[in-house]
Amino acid sequence: GFNCGIVGLPNVGKSTLFNALTKSGIDAENFPFCTIEPNTGIVPMPDPRLDRLSEIVKPEKVIPTTMEFVDIAGLVAGASKGEGLGNQFLANIRETDAIAHVVRCFEDDNVIHVSNQVDPRADIETINIELALADLDSVERGIQRLARVAKGGDKEALASKALLERIQPHVAEGQPLRSFGLSDDEKKLLKGFGFLTLKPTMYIANVHEEGFENNPHLDIVNAIAAEEGAVVVPVCNKIEAEIAELEEEERAMFLEELGMEEPGLDRVIRAGYGLLGLQTYFTAGVKEVRAWTVPVGATAPQGAGVIHTDFQKGFIRAEVVAYEDFVALGGEQGAKEAGKWRLEGKEYVLKDGDVVHFRFNV
Ligand code: GDP
Repeated sequence: GFNCGIVGLPNVGKSTLFNALTKSGIDAENFPFCTIEPNTGIVPMPDPRLDRLSEIVKPEKVIPTTMEFVDIAGLVAGASKGEGLGNQFLANIRETDAIAHVVRCFEDDNVIHVSNQVDPRADIETINIELALADLDSVERGIQRLARVAKGGDKEALASKALLERIQPHVAEGQPLRSFGLSDDEKKLLKGFGFLTLKPTMYIANVHEEGFENNPHLDIVNAIAAEEGAVVVPVCNKIEAEIAELEEEERAMFLEELGMEEPGLDRVIRAGYGLLGLQTYFTAGVKEVRAWTVPVGATAPQGAGVIHTDFQKGFIRAEVVAYEDFVALGGEQGAKEAGKWRLEGKEYVLKDGDVVHFRFNV
């Protein structure tokens, strides 16, 4: 699966967010293939399309697709030098696919701030500098290693080394690599280095419940993200924690009182999904209606492989109905009669919402 690491300074609301995410979570027993560690939460992707499909197919089970969130122990300045849980922290981030950086944008005299004032710009810098310093370390070690390899005249090693030397000053200034303006080819060259500041990143601006508008702290986060090409999700973690405690019926009432259409967590989860370039296809049988995650651009056999590697190996064809057609025409039979049921081969690129049945050899 794909996962998103939650980082941020101490006391900004990371655990509150993580707990809300996991409380609204699902029964772990539905996901025996996932290893669940205490700091890992498996969170269902909110997707109303599953409800529509289930109304039509009336399956025994409905299974959403999921995102994993990892709560990463608090960072202190100096982590890249091994202070506090520094090294462990950085190692944990290296294993994540994307980063959700929680930034405190709420005022509350009862909640101590590590530097005694709410200052999102300074907070973001503190974290980004630690991440950049960790990257600087990787850059320097990379240059040394490639210098040895390049002696043999290896062209790719030379190109990588030249690129590392170009990015070195940027990283040394504490700037994230995502703001360097790397081309796709350059990103490919850097892939193996696992740079932390090149991971897709979103800022979660933890605001006061009335802090979604006219909030100078939030404006600052928006401005920083715009410069870096990062995403911002404003959310009030305290309210989210309260919402997550409620039973479904109470939850709907509480949301209505707050004038919210959905929990803010849903926006966080969706943003994480989008950040990773993921999309969903469905299988819709009477036993189970289920959502599956694939990267945008995945072919039909690759999609089949998410269900089982044998499905990919023995792939013959995919029967496909677009979600809109499936729902508008009342299911597979209706789609067939209307000519909206297609047989696709192994070159077919899956689209978001496709309802798919794979044919395969065993
Ligand atoms: P962490 O150290 O980043 O994991 O922060 P916590 O989630 O433990 O939160 C630190 C303190 O801030 C706790 O007392 C929370 O109740 C409080 N807190 C978290 N989010 C909010 C919020 O949105 N508003 C307010 N007023 N307090 C919050």
